Amino acid sequence: MISRIHPLPAFRDNYIWTVIDGDGGAACVVDPGDPAPVIEFLNANSLHLSDILITHHHMDHTGGLGELIGKYAPRVFGPPGIPGIGKLLAEGDRLEVFGVDFRVFEVPGHTLDHIAYFHAGSKHDTPILFCGDTLFAAGCGRLFEGTPAQMLDSLRKLMVLPPETAVHCTHEYTMANLSFAAAADPANSELQSRIRNEQGKRDIGKPTLPSTIGLELATNPFLRCGLPDLAASAGRRLGRPPTDETEVFATIRKWKDQF
Ligand code: ZN
Ligand code: FE
Repeated sequence: MISRIHPLPAFRDNYIWTVIDGDGGAACVVDPGDPAPVIEFLNANSLHLSDILITHHHMDHTGGLGELIGKYAPRVFGPPGIPGIGKLLAEGDRLEVFGVDFRVFEVPGHTLDHIAYFHAGSKHDTPILFCGDTLFAAGCGRLFEGTPAQMLDSLRKLMVLPPETAVHCTHEYTMANLSFAAAADPANSELQSRIRNEQGKRDIGKPTLPSTIGLELATNPFLRCGLPDLAASAGRRLGRPPTDETEVFATIRKWKDQF
């Protein structure tokens, strides 16, 4: 059983999601880019680090691995190609953390090795997603390695998850993403209320995360590329109607890079 999932702030805008065992003695961290906040939190709460989950190879997600492995010898799960990972994962693999079952999705786009972890929920808990830098609140990861078509396919795997799924992204990019969303999807009235709501959290220093799949479907332009409004926005950028949803996505993603 998981008792809670706590966001540890790291660097400028990363969160290291810390999953705490219901029995209280152990913790699992997702994407520990920096070992210092993890060690400090574990010490302050008398927790042992039993597991690490990695989503992709970027240093702001993996930089703490060496030190944490040396200190705690946890199980380390992640995609191939990253030093220190003991349990290599691929699409459809399953793992258990504190008796809770997670399934692995390959979600290439931001990087080619990117994976996400999904717990389907049960009578006792809601579905949980750890999606690294693939899906953000009101945004998606930059395409460093993959193509727009790959990223759109990856996002589609996440869009069909239950709407109540708690979406744990790795960066606090929400307010900047929402400014862009308002430009790309100007007629979406749900965006204005989300902006007020999330700004309220930032004003008191709270994370805007986790989000939910339902909220993202309603307000995230990168999940709305199949809708006429986003196609029209992409068409205004292109100066002609986009040929398909992939071109809508590619156009919106490139626009965001320059926004
Ligand atoms: Zn990254
Ligand atoms: Fe990152």
